[in-house]
Parts: sequence; C-alpha cells; structure tokens
Amino acid sequence: MNERKRKLGEERFAIRELFEYGKRRAKEIGRENVFDFSIGNPSSPAPDGVKEEIIRLLNEVSSAELHGYTSAQGDPAVRKAVADYLHSEFGAEISANRIYMSCGASASLTVALNAILSGGEEVAVLAPYFPEYRVFIEGARGFVKEVATDKNFRLDLDALDQAITKNTAAVILNSPNNPTGVVYREEEIKSFAALLNRKSREFKKPVYLISDEPYRELTYGAKVPFPANYYDNTIVCYSFSKCLTLAGERIGYLAVNDRAEEADALYTACVGAGRDLGFVCAPALFQQVIRKCVGMTSDVGVYEKNRALLYGALTDMGYAAVEPEGAFYLFVKSLEPDAKAFCERAKKYELLLVPSDSFGIQGYVRISYCVPTEQIKNSLPKFEALFKEYLR
Ligand code: PLP
Repeated sequence: MNERKRKLGEERFAIRELFEYGKRRAKEIGRENVFDFSIGNPSSPAPDGVKEEIIRLLNEVSSAELHGYTSAQGDPAVRKAVADYLHSEFGAEISANRIYMSCGASASLTVALNAILSGGEEVAVLAPYFPEYRVFIEGARGFVKEVATDKNFRLDLDALDQAITKNTAAVILNSPNNPTGVVYREEEIKSFAALLNRKSREFKKPVYLISDEPYRELTYGAKVPFPANYYDNTIVCYSFSKCLTLAGERIGYLAVNDRAEEADALYTACVGAGRDLGFVCAPALFQQVIRKCVGMTSDVGVYEKNRALLYGALTDMGYAAVEPEGAFYLFVKSLEPDAKAFCERAKKYELLLVPSDSFGIQGYVRISYCVPTEQIKNSLPKFEALFKEYLR
C-alpha cells in the first residue's frame, strides 16, 4: 500500500469531514436546526438555459454522440466554443487547440502541476489558500512554499519576491479567492506579472502562473482581471462548478496561453499529464452542455444578499472580517487563538465553521455563505450567543 495515499484517505479533507458531520447531525435533530457553513456547494440553481440544453441534447442528439468517448482533450467543437468565449469576453489569445476539457478545477490543477513539475521543485501558494493545493502539489512530487499575504489578504510583493527562487516552478493565484473573498485588482496583477517576468529572466526559465479561477464570475461589483492577459506563461484552470452550479457534474477546463514560452510543448505536456493521471475525456454530455452554455452564469443575487446580511450582522456583533468582494466565503477572525477550539465551541450552537489551520494560517474560520438566506437569518442568534460566551 502507498503510505501517503492511505494517510490522505484516513485524514480526509477537514471541510468534507465537517460536511459529513452536518449530514449526520441533520438526521438527528432536523436539517433546520443545523447551520452548516462548511462546504462551497453552490445553492443558486443552474440557469434555465442549462436545463433546457440538457433536455434538447437528450431528445435530439444520438446516444453514441452524447455518451461516447470524445478525444482525450475534449470535443474540438466544445474547445472552440470555450476559446471563442475567452476571446470575446477578455480578448484572450488562447486557441481551441490549447484548451483541455477537464473534470473541474481540481483536475485542471493536477494536470497543470503534473505537466510542469519533474520532482522536487517548489510551487508557491498565497496563504490563506485552498487546502487541496497541498495535496495536488505533493501528489505531483513538488513542495509547497507558503507565501504570506498582507493584513487584508492582498498580494505582498516583497514576500513573493523573497519566496520565488530558481527552484520555483510556479505560483498558484486564486481570484476571487477562497477563503477570503478578495479579488486582486488590475494594478496588483500588473505588478505581480512584472515580478514574475523579472524572475523568469533572472532564472532563464519561465516561472509559471497557475491561475485558478472557479469563482471568476462570482463578484459583487469588483472587476476581475484575466491574468493570462497580463502574464504570458499562464495556465488557466477553470471550473463550471460554482458559476453554473454544476459542482457534481465535474466539468471545467485548462487553457494554455498562446503567448506562453513553447506553448505547444507545454500543452502537449498537459495532454501527457492527463493521460498519466487517467483524466481523459471529461464527461461527454456536459461538454456538450458547455458548448452552448459557456458564458451563462447562475443568479448571484442570493449570494450578494447573504454576503450583505452575514457580513453586516457579524461585524455589528463585534466579529472581525474583511468584506468579501467575490466568491461566497467570509473569513472571520476566531475569538480565540486556536481556531479549532473555537469551531468546537461553535458546534455547541450547531454552527459548523471551518478552522483556518488547513488554509495555511492560524486564528480564522471560514463561513461558506452559499446557503439558503433563511439559514443565515436563523443562525444569527447563535453567532451572537457564541460571541457573548467569549465576553464572560
Ligand atoms: N480551487 C478552488 C479555489 C476551490 O475553491 C475549489 C472548490 O471548492 C476548487 C479549486 C475545485 O473545484 P472543482 O469542483 O471544479 O474541482
């Protein structure tokens, strides 16, 4: 048995563990009495256009075409639809033959990492970060280099400058961000791109930017720059899980920037990594759905409402948090230094919050607010009681 894999299976992902606990608890005391803020399972329904397209496809397209294998990197017509969308929406220079359809951002990230790492290099991640990055990086035989962000969780260019060395293969950037809700501004991305260019010149090899963008469309007014337009050596990892509410369907894509150094070889390495990992031919039916529905977005109104309600109420009570500009998470300062102990106390009030330890930072909790607004309203007295417990 592979010891690392056994340990991974045993430990489980803290967020999923809590999610399973929430389901068990709901059976015991009723769903309405459990305030599960653990997982980022989007609640806004997929757009009507998605449902209509699924029905149309089932009625009009042959079973062989809908459910058979596509080419390993995805149906060419689907990849063209994605490339056309990226061009029309962002002016991106990414051709269809540099798109790889995948089982969500998780698969895009593992493919990208396995394509560029040979073993032993570092991949920089900005703390706090999505905990699975560590699993994906180490699984590709790389090492995680945690880089701090500033007090508002924005880019700290000095820290990045120090952290990126000749052993750095890539930096993972995630905007809008899980868990902080931060959206990096155009000026930040430009300065970061200048830093990466300088480092790449100094080390005479590209330092790749892996741009993890599953929340790209989920913003509340902030403009989300498209990083591949600012830095040539960018690999885009996208998912339709969040923006189209298709998390369970496992569909997304990876895209290699046309302007990347040796873009063809880089894309070929991605195809090779997909083959190596068994990530070939993303779900065929949903590839076809994407051909028509790329560019649609679920209604983010409910998240916007939840964000205002939760952020407003918690900060009024005395909790400290940075106002999220995108995604659907609120990152709140724990009321005691040990976030795990704080989350255990919160459980007494049936509040399921994720401690920040696995995000690479101590002393915070993540609250996932992609839940029915009713759940947030009903949870507020619990948050208040929890806060008061710490005043005693
Ligand atoms: N990256 C980030 C930042 C995420 O938050 C998630 C899921 O929550 C993923 C990647 C994985 O998404 P997918 O469902 O597309 O695999």
